[in-house]
Amino acid sequence: MKIRLDRTICDGFGVCAKHAPGYFSLDDWGYAALIGDGTVAEADRDAVMRALLDCPVHAITEIGDRKFRTAAPPLTDASDPAEHLKTEENEAEWGFTR
Ligand code: SF4
Repeated sequence: MKIRLDRTICDGFGVCAKHAPGYFSLDDWGYAALIGDGTVAEADRDAVMRALLDCPVHAITEIGDRKFRTAAPPLTDASDPAEHLKTEENEAEWGFTR
């Protein structure tokens, strides 16, 4: 996991440094700076994600590939919604009455 901090939108709430002090430092006015190059160790992932999600102005973003980004599985006849369209031709199956 890798993160970046946009200091131009940081409003100095300090939430990030509270959750992940090893990754964020605060200057004299409370504005955050990233410690290091933004690479997050797996053991610190939860704390940094908490900082990311709790930042009130969304100044922290995750960059790079995410593990769950995979191609959608191909449609099969069973999962194809077009197979379950209710039409006049199959109304005996779905029970429409006039
Ligand atoms: S939580 Fe967000 S707004 Fe607050 S200091 Fe950190 S980056 Fe800035």
